Amino acid sequence: MTRRALPIAAVLMAVAGITPAMAQRIDDRRLGLLTDEVMAEVASMSKLTQVMVDRIFSFSELGFQEYETSKYLIGTLRDNGFEVEEGISGIPTAWWAKWGSGEPVIAFGSDIDGIPKANQKPGVAWHEALVEGAPGHGEGHNSGQAVNVTAALALKKIMEREHITGTLILWPGVAEELVGSKAWFVRDGRFRDVDIVLFTHVSSNMSVTWGAPSGTGLVSVEFTFAGESAHAAGSPWRGRSALDAVELMNAGWNYRREHLRPLQRSHYVITDGGDQPNVVPSRASVWYYFREMDQENIKRNFGIGVKMAEGAALMTDTEMSYRILGTAYPRHFSRPVAEAMGRHIERVGLPQWSEADQTLAHAVQREVDANPRGLATKVSGVSGPPQEAQSGGSDDIGDVSWTVPTVTLRFPSNIPGLPGHNWSNAIAMATPIAHKGATAAAKVMAMTALELFARPTLVEAAWTYFNDEQSKQHHYTPFIGPDNPPATHLNADIMERYRPLLEKYYFDDTRYDTYLEQLGIHYPTVKPAEPDSHGSRSERSRPKGS
Ligand SMILES: [Zn+2]
Repeated sequence: MTRRALPIAAVLMAVAGITPAMAQRIDDRRLGLLTDEVMAEVASMSKLTQVMVDRIFSFSELGFQEYETSKYLIGTLRDNGFEVEEGISGIPTAWWAKWGSGEPVIAFGSDIDGIPKANQKPGVAWHEALVEGAPGHGEGHNSGQAVNVTAALALKKIMEREHITGTLILWPGVAEELVGSKAWFVRDGRFRDVDIVLFTHVSSNMSVTWGAPSGTGLVSVEFTFAGESAHAAGSPWRGRSALDAVELMNAGWNYRREHLRPLQRSHYVITDGGDQPNVVPSRASVWYYFREMDQENIKRNFGIGVKMAEGAALMTDTEMSYRILGTAYPRHFSRPVAEAMGRHIERVGLPQWSEADQTLAHAVQREVDANPRGLATKVSGVSGPPQEAQSGGSDDIGDVSWTVPTVTLRFPSNIPGLPGHNWSNAIAMATPIAHKGATAAAKVMAMTALELFARPTLVEAAWTYFNDEQSKQHHYTPFIGPDNPPATHLNADIMERYRPLLEKYYFDDTRYDTYLEQLGIHYPTVKPAEPDSHGSRSERSRPKGS
């Protein structure tokens, strides 16, 4: 059935002339009825979904520091009968929740971290923070676990009642914006017993793709230079500046960029530029993302980066070291699972948007100079790889997708046409737009998982595609090994500074119906519409992933 050896029970059944497919099959008529029921069950849980979306939004936590988010999700799952293992892969905010028994094992994943300086009042169509300078959900990762938990609880109810065997796993994409956890989960064998991964990610429409989607993979590396300090005025000739090395490395990279393949993306921030001008910086660090379309070219550009760093160290007589902080493999998604999910997407369709939802969307789009086309009204559905390779963001779900058949359900909880990783991407994320999008997505997740539990042939087809098509094209060679620890120190200082200021804004669902109500925000809060000038506005395409 999978690449793994068949369990003894299956061997015994085979001897008896019963295949696992026959043993567990739910006939089409019954599956149809149960699918209707699980949809209705998800719909009946829309209040819980809304509370989860709003609460996680209000925590505003950055990657590796998702303590409140994980505590809340773990509590919810334990209250509902899941067994939860905490701190997996040496990451304090990571966990692995399990319910049920036997095969197949279906794992739901979704990211949980926010974006630096993206703090924003929800439902307000201009830039206005709750806490100035604080992190916020300027990507929308507050919605995915609400989708997964709702879907899992609806499924569990039906499975218990109908005595359907199978195991449900839930897990978080910790620090996805740093692509900092999934390759570590894979490295540590977390997915060894998983049959299928259904991943969810916020978007502005409902879709699923198979094959290699648009976007890149990446390696995230911090280079550190060590020199010698000296009085910058009294005896500068005695100093060796680590900051000079950082600047020379960056200058070198920026010249070299012109001669790299056009689809590469690379960017850096200086994480340590010294302490004060009168002390020659004895230490300095710069953090790079090297993105490319395939493993070979990511590796090549990483190599060029190391050469630049070595050159800079030579020029400045400093010592250079580097550390991998994150990695995301280029993705490849399962065709059979995507096609099955695509049918459920068509059935569920897009949410019914209210006039208030559309008014907010138009106002936000006008505010950021996007085409004011409002919210999506025609479902995207299932598609294959793009005709021509397209660059863009990355997601460490790529590492998972080369380990077990995987798809990502993209769901309509946000407004189309926004810049990404920006305060404007947070505006819809604790409003009815996010809530309705999450409920629609939870239906699709529950329906797809139910089909996987009911039809072992679908799980088999996914593994056939994985082994005979996907893995024939490429062999997964991860960028990390046993000696690369997860970079769990990242963002600790930022959250230490902002957590006390954010705490008073945590959503209290025992006192308020919605987060908008708690904040006293009229929905939607928009500027009066200006005279129209649509035609002259050009819309930048929405980036995907981290
Ligand atoms: Zn994301």
